[in-house]
Amino acid sequence: MTKTISILGSTGSIGRQTLDVVDQLGVRVAALTCGSNLERMTEQCRKYRPQLAVMSTKELADRLQTALQDPEIRVMWGKDGLLEAAAMPEADTVITAVVGMMGLEPTLAAVRAGKRIGLANKETLVCAGELVMSEADLYGAEIIPVDSEHSAIFQCLMGCGDRGEVKRLILTASGGAFYGKTMEELRTAKKDEALKHPNWKMGQKITIDCATMLNKGLEFIEAMRLYRMPPEKISVVVHRQSIVHSLVEFKDGAVLAQLGVPDMRIPIQLALTYPNRVESPADGLDLLTCGPLTFAAPDLETFPCLKLAMDAAHTGGTACAVLNGANEEAVAAYLRDEIGFYDISDSIACAMSQVPVVQNPSLEQILEADRLARQAAKQYFLKR
Ligand code: NAD
Ligand code: MG
Repeated sequence: MTKTISILGSTGSIGRQTLDVVDQLGVRVAALTCGSNLERMTEQCRKYRPQLAVMSTKELADRLQTALQDPEIRVMWGKDGLLEAAAMPEADTVITAVVGMMGLEPTLAAVRAGKRIGLANKETLVCAGELVMSEADLYGAEIIPVDSEHSAIFQCLMGCGDRGEVKRLILTASGGAFYGKTMEELRTAKKDEALKHPNWKMGQKITIDCATMLNKGLEFIEAMRLYRMPPEKISVVVHRQSIVHSLVEFKDGAVLAQLGVPDMRIPIQLALTYPNRVESPADGLDLLTCGPLTFAAPDLETFPCLKLAMDAAHTGGTACAVLNGANEEAVAAYLRDEIGFYDISDSIACAMSQVPVVQNPSLEQILEADRLARQAAKQYFLKR
């Protein structure tokens, strides 16, 4: 059970919900880090008095220090600060709740410090899953998924000693804001509509990823890495209600599922209390009032991002980092209203066709693939 925690990305959606759980469990906070939300960070630091607080830039760090006037809170900035927060000796658990590939190096730092990692930052496992998992074995770091689907699978696999007994992992997908829309309608779809997720309130990047269904593609790759499963043994089913969080099918035909209301505090809390379970502030699930649970096949033609991710999963190596890097650039451009909905999938496809794939990549090769993918995506935006 977690006693002291560092939260990377404490001001975001997962970060704030982690602090709710921290309040409930009475966990101590060693470090808080954020990008640029100075106001919320100041409030959090006053309340939790961490030993270390990290902002993304020196200017913001100076302003935080001035606002806090607290000699017991050390303030740092940038990557050095994140790496320090990830490996602090005082913390036994690190929650990785920053968004994007920038979470990779801090996650590796936490792994190398042998921490328990509550892993929310999925981009890290997508880009460097094999590396992160093998280092976790080497350093005895425990990786507990926070992503609701992977937490569900983690729970369904509890007590399964032999992974050879698993026939298939089944990831459920809400379908995002655009489920049921036609390609014609989506060609001109803008971010305001894409940001209306039916079931979850999350950061902007992941909400756009849900609208394109790339989020499920990233989760497909994340599941491969976390559970060391080949892509043939993973499937995706659309489940609009987000009540069944994912399932595992076993050799003998038994299928286990984990259900619950869509509330991220449930998987976050389990990452802190595992192997125990304690009371949670989340609502219970009432099967009599939650409405019918439905399941459907995903539409890979209207949502090509999911197909691209499955292709990258089959190719392996740096293909997944290329997919992710191009997508991060594309989502940022889409959020700035610079590109259209299908430019996201087209720019990813363009990067995947241009950047050469390296199998069993080193960290440097992964970072290079990410750089080339971002460059290819930006060139695509200029030429479109
Ligand atoms: P968010 O945008 O709400 O929060 C991101 C956090 O990262 C913020 O604290 C922000 O300040 C910080 N950050 C951003 N840029 C930074 C920088 N340059 N340096 C340091 N910190 C920086 O995102 P979120 O929705 O909380 O998602 C976080 C991660 O968790 C993502 O990888 C996402 O895919 C994953 N995830 C989120 C949910 C969810 O319900 N929100 C569910 C599953 C997985
Ligand atoms: Mg998820």
